[in-house]
Amino acid sequence: MSTHPLGASVTAALERRIGELLAEMTITEKIGQMRQVDVAEAGDPRELHEAIRAGRIGSVLNAVDVASVNELQRMAVRRSRLGIPLLIGRDVIHGFRTVFPIPLGQAATWSPGLVREGAKIAAHEAASTGVNWTFAPMIDISRDPRWGRIAESFGEDPYLTGVLGTAMVKGFQGDDLAGIGSIAACAKHFAGYGASESGRDYNTTNIPENELRNVYLVPFKAAIDAGVATVMASFSELDGVPASGNRFLMTGILRDEWQFDGFVVSDWGSIEQLTVHGFAASEKEAAYEAASAGVNMEMASRAYDRYLAGLVETGRVSLQQIDSMVSDILRTKFRLGLFENPFTDPSSYAAIANGHNLQVAKQAALQSVVLLENRNNALPLARDALRSLAVIGPLADAPRDQLGTWIFDGDPAISQTPLSAIRKLVGDGVAVNYARAMENSRSRSLDGFAAAIDAAKASDAVVVFLGEESILSGEARSRAGIDLPGSQADLVRVLKATGKPLVAVILAGRPLTLGNVLDEVDALLYAWHPGTMGGPAIAELLFGIESPSGKLPVTFPRVVGQVPVYYAHKNTGKPATPETFVHIDEVHARQSSSGMTSSHLDAGFEPLYPFGFGRSYTRFSYSEIEVSAAQLGPDEPLTVRALVRNDGDVEADEIVQLYVRDLVGSVTRPVKELKRFERVRLKAGERRAVSFRLEPGDLAFHGRDMKLKTEPGDFHVWIGGSSAADLRAEFTIAEFTIVGE
Ligand code: BGC
Repeated sequence: MSTHPLGASVTAALERRIGELLAEMTITEKIGQMRQVDVAEAGDPRELHEAIRAGRIGSVLNAVDVASVNELQRMAVRRSRLGIPLLIGRDVIHGFRTVFPIPLGQAATWSPGLVREGAKIAAHEAASTGVNWTFAPMIDISRDPRWGRIAESFGEDPYLTGVLGTAMVKGFQGDDLAGIGSIAACAKHFAGYGASESGRDYNTTNIPENELRNVYLVPFKAAIDAGVATVMASFSELDGVPASGNRFLMTGILRDEWQFDGFVVSDWGSIEQLTVHGFAASEKEAAYEAASAGVNMEMASRAYDRYLAGLVETGRVSLQQIDSMVSDILRTKFRLGLFENPFTDPSSYAAIANGHNLQVAKQAALQSVVLLENRNNALPLARDALRSLAVIGPLADAPRDQLGTWIFDGDPAISQTPLSAIRKLVGDGVAVNYARAMENSRSRSLDGFAAAIDAAKASDAVVVFLGEESILSGEARSRAGIDLPGSQADLVRVLKATGKPLVAVILAGRPLTLGNVLDEVDALLYAWHPGTMGGPAIAELLFGIESPSGKLPVTFPRVVGQVPVYYAHKNTGKPATPETFVHIDEVHARQSSSGMTSSHLDAGFEPLYPFGFGRSYTRFSYSEIEVSAAQLGPDEPLTVRALVRNDGDVEADEIVQLYVRDLVGSVTRPVKELKRFERVRLKAGERRAVSFRLEPGDLAFHGRDMKLKTEPGDFHVWIGGSSAADLRAEFTIAEFTIVGE
């Protein structure tokens, strides 16, 4: 990762170039490299140009007009003393003009190949405007659906997030960071942001080091190993130390342990916010803490610009520290090939939002949708048997909302909505009766209900599009209650009363609690915010042109009070079982310590839907699990194999998942942990052996001494279609293996 694939000589040559350049730089020019400015906030473009010419800016964010980006680069490369090109940053989170499903939806595809392809397309489209750096992937482990930023994440699991985060990094960065269409990725937010208390954005986190290492840092380590160019510091604090002033994270773990040689950017204003946290008494002290921790570049605020030179002058921040931080930034600019090719010629790129890009976006949307319920095979709808279909709801024809959060460069005008796609798919043979029913997902007015009821009554079946508008998830969009907002539950009730078959499609940025609508609907598809091509994907699933194959990347709670609820929990000393669980209506007045187990009187101990769950138009069964060895010696790999069969009568994809449990550990281990998965396609009646190979390192965890090791003992291993899989085998590990030794 830290050395160039072509070998030590290339690395040495690069370090020489960096050293030579650094030797020529003044302290002002060095600190300039550490400053990132937002174009909109920079005010007068002439002042921005002047600052660039003076070498006082190393990066600009949110410039996406190719002519002005080239002009900024011209100022930097041709008009500044040393000609150092700019990093042009942008939040390209799940697509540029072609918008893919929100990352949580992409995670539901369990398709690293598609995630990579989507990121590659986003990188090309963005690069054609001069952007050379994206602030993605967001790989914060997210176990709290109240947190609005869960939409931007790959969900609750460290392994799945690591695999998909790696795929996204590779998609953005390509095989060669200097290649055309490659842009630098940024693993964010380092670290622990997803654990914000009560799911309220920017809130405090409390994560013990062991959990930090075994859960929250896992995907970041994977991204570093995949060669991610940059890392972003989180807004949150960790153990009382805000990330932007956290030396343990930025230097101890990133540089010393993981040998990361890219650079760290602060989050928006997060250095100056060290004063608001109550961690630094002044902006000057904030600059001191951030620079000492190892945050290379300051986004948006100006503590470095104003105070770093003085801190160096008085010797509080050493010149060596500055040189090392600036070197990291220059290294990234060299690796991007910016010194050789600072300008962007849009004609060397394919057209944005072209047919191919839209097809990949459709495929991603198709694979992201999760079928949660399908009573009496209400789905798929039979096109030939239908004469009329009611399409109802605030999200059936909402081109912007289906794009989801963080779509700066998305274009609702090219969104293909479910309504338009259904109309196109059914053609003239089926009358489509559309009623929006509610102005938006939050409306409380019942005024549109009468028209919706009429549409339902006039139709053979009803599909209602519910959920959340895009602005209800994302940054600073946390919710304390996660039911369907507004009067949506009432809408479902009145539609149910028509007696027509009722299918709900939910578009949302987070798991919602569905208790108040679930029993009313015959089938339920969870489509997240599916992006530009959400409509055609949903239409094809509704009519069975393809079977749903998405699986949940996050546990769905029954009620919000269960949160955090995730599959890889610990067993506790008193785990609940169906036999021991006592419902609130049955609880006795007598108090006794025997037979008491860990559950909620009113919600039980199981979620609404487990991680990894998702139905299909066919049924898959699993059998004959086998391990290659019952006892594993040191460094021996293990192969686990099982048979998967498509027992139904349609061809479909299944996500085969492998989980393990380490029964006894020097620190307790989760009851199940995902270790492998594979999307397979099986014809009706087809049976296939699927096998996975595990290395001892895959079973390692950080113990009490924080070392990463595999401990001897007994393990269970399951293969199945969700985290509730019950087909199990066992094996034993004989000896300790310390990873990396
Ligand atoms: C967000 C980051 C984002 C940055 C730049 C911040 O508010 O937390 O994730 O990359 O803004 O837009």
